[in-house]
Amino acid sequence: MNRHYSIQDFPSRLRYHKIVPTQHAFQAEDTRLEPIARKVLAGERLSGDEALVLYSTGDILAVGWLANHVRERLHGDRTYFNVNRHINPTNVCVAACRLCAFGRKKDTPGAYTMALEEAYETAASGYSEAVTEFHIVGGLHPDLPFQYFLDLVSGLKQRFPQVHLKAFTMVEVSYLAKRAKLSIRETLLKLKEAGVDSLPGGGAEIFSDRIRHIICDHKIDGSEWLDTARTAHQIGLKSNATMLYGHVENDEDRVDHLLKLRAVQDETNGFQTFIPLAFHPENTALAHLPKTTGMLDIRQIAVSRLILDNFPHIKAYWQMLTPKIAQIALRFGADDLDGTVIEEKIYHDAGATTPQGMRRQDLVHLIEEAGREAIERDTLYRPVLRTETTVTVAV
Ligand code: SF4
Repeated sequence: MNRHYSIQDFPSRLRYHKIVPTQHAFQAEDTRLEPIARKVLAGERLSGDEALVLYSTGDILAVGWLANHVRERLHGDRTYFNVNRHINPTNVCVAACRLCAFGRKKDTPGAYTMALEEAYETAASGYSEAVTEFHIVGGLHPDLPFQYFLDLVSGLKQRFPQVHLKAFTMVEVSYLAKRAKLSIRETLLKLKEAGVDSLPGGGAEIFSDRIRHIICDHKIDGSEWLDTARTAHQIGLKSNATMLYGHVENDEDRVDHLLKLRAVQDETNGFQTFIPLAFHPENTALAHLPKTTGMLDIRQIAVSRLILDNFPHIKAYWQMLTPKIAQIALRFGADDLDGTVIEEKIYHDAGATTPQGMRRQDLVHLIEEAGREAIERDTLYRPVLRTETTVTVAV
């Protein structure tokens, strides 16, 4: 006689691997998706018009199926995370972006700037040899000299030689270049020489001038952001790229943003990961706007995976999406959850209710429960191998 097992019969660790969705053929209620599916299955590039269909269709499960197909073609079940720490050396900023809840004017309540020793102490607090990355971003400080940032980086490198320094957005690099009266290339070369290993992808927001004028008109424009990324890649610094969505942009703005990133990636191949960032309106000048919905978050992950065919990775940044949505995103095109983080400030100032950090085993649990294989990586996506006493990066 056949015995019918219920899910409770399995120990929890085993259970994760039993929850594997049935592989079924592509089905769409929206016939506009059929030619798109043919192209995706043949590995062909999608156009801007097709991206607009992906944004406008009600058939989110069909879009998700296609994105998941690409994700599995690239990575199978592999799902990446890292053990990192955020360091925000200052929140003092000359810009006043309406999207921002983090920046403060100098000498206003809540403004802070870390002395170098303080930044080193922040890096060291809670530090263990498990940390493989410091993610360093901050405001555009009117007085700190370029030398402060070079010393910050070289001091961290000296104290933590094995930790990868992912530091300074394109916006910060451009500001430092102006303050130091150097070209972007010279600035990046000096930062690299001091110890910067790669760049994060922040500050891209939405490239459209019309939208930038509303949400961040003090920032460099979209083409300067893209030029700075291009230059970083040309001198051998990898970077990520982001898009802030869910405020006043429309589908055309989002598609324009994705296509511009795809074009630079065709030239340089220097982007590692695309990170769609859900807008958090709380405590910003745009606080009247609603938060993004789960449906938009999931759709944005899926469309990104389908349009950015030359980006190796799509990240579901759990801090912004919530761990629950991020976990679902692993079936809608995402292959990375970001990291343990430790003390995230920027989105928590904007009302994020997620924890400010997550333990390594909690991230592994989220990934395995989604039926995926958790791979700890370093910033360059090399697997990190751990034993009880040692950490090795496979090269
Ligand atoms: S988003 Fe960045 S540049 Fe704009 S105000 Fe905030 S910290 Fe400054």
